[in-house]
Amino acid sequence: MKELGEELKELSKKNLLRKLTCIESSRGSKISINGKTCVNFSSNDYLGLSSHPEIVKAAASALKKYGFGSGASRLLSGTYAPHVKLEERLANFKKTEAALVFNTGYAANTGIIPAITGEDALIFSDELNHASIIDGIRLSKAKVKIYRHRDVNHLESLLKINLKSKRRLMITDTIFSMDGDIAPLKDIFSLCERYDALLMIDDAHGTGVIGKTGRGGLEHFGIKQTDRIIQMGTLSKAAGCFGAFIAGPKDLINLLISKARSFIYSTSLPPAVAAAAAKAIDLIEFESEDRRRKLWINRQRLSEGLLKLGYDTLGSETPIIPVLTGDTKSVLKVGEYLFKRKIFAPAIRPPTVPEGKCRIRFSVTAAHTKEDIDLLIGVLKKSA
Ligand SMILES: *Cc1c(COP(=O)(O)O)cnc(C)c1O
Repeated sequence: MKELGEELKELSKKNLLRKLTCIESSRGSKISINGKTCVNFSSNDYLGLSSHPEIVKAAASALKKYGFGSGASRLLSGTYAPHVKLEERLANFKKTEAALVFNTGYAANTGIIPAITGEDALIFSDELNHASIIDGIRLSKAKVKIYRHRDVNHLESLLKINLKSKRRLMITDTIFSMDGDIAPLKDIFSLCERYDALLMIDDAHGTGVIGKTGRGGLEHFGIKQTDRIIQMGTLSKAAGCFGAFIAGPKDLINLLISKARSFIYSTSLPPAVAAAAAKAIDLIEFESEDRRRKLWINRQRLSEGLLKLGYDTLGSETPIIPVLTGDTKSVLKVGEYLFKRKIFAPAIRPPTVPEGKCRIRFSVTAAHTKEDIDLLIGVLKKSA
């Protein structure tokens, strides 16, 4: 194992060694680390639903009825009533014919992309798409054209010269997870129609957050679901639960049940998780208007504060607000500085972001108070 030790040393020298932070307790926007209470600016629990009493109650009553583990994969004896109910609920929420639950967003993306493409397919992918999309593309063996971030002209030029492939799939994050900007879905969808490509959106950060009723990217842009559109989303971010899904045409979902390897060869989510997630979707659709409003007010307050201090927030338009710091060494320093002042916001380094684009990624939620946000801005002001 000598080589592994050397590799670790090498990573450490480059300031690229990663470490886990253990959280001892959590309440609202506060977490406790090493006995110290910090304000958490790194959670994707945008609406603060993870501790919502109705979600906890739904999980608890399913636990009593079904026990904890599901005991098998979905195609064996791992499909319980809460899974089926959740899928119906998701299809209804995303306005699609059907939906299929995956264990994680990572599993959804690495499952669907190889299942619907192959060597004769061509995939168009934004250069800042999430790692799980990149890995799904690698597994698919399809050819891939990477277009410049959110650049529809570049995308169109690539679509134009690549008209021969049997299947053409265009994939983009709705909200980019490390930059907090939004893909121009309307223009992208028009191009998909013009050049006959399928559109897949990864709505992990959009679901619950954008659109009047929290339905995500399509609702935000006023795009109607058609057979050309595949919606991926997670239940682990704004829904405050765990798991993910693909929503789309019935034929697509049936194909995934027979072909998506991450779906077939993995034990299904505990039924209690599915029951909690179905409740979370109800809350997002019918009872989260106030939470969403608070989320966006908080977002505005933090964003304005950071811009006033002169920080480059990379065109963030959402509750994900990055602050560019440059190299690996300086970003680690900023992270430590913040932690000493009771703010938890991790340093993001390559390969999560490109070389030289290290950043602190702040994510703001509805659970933050005005005081939380002012504390962060005050601390940054002193450092400037
Ligand atoms: C978080 C995330 C995923 C992965 O979802 P998990 O359920 O955490 O595995 C996929 N895509 C994007 C854009 C994400 O931000």
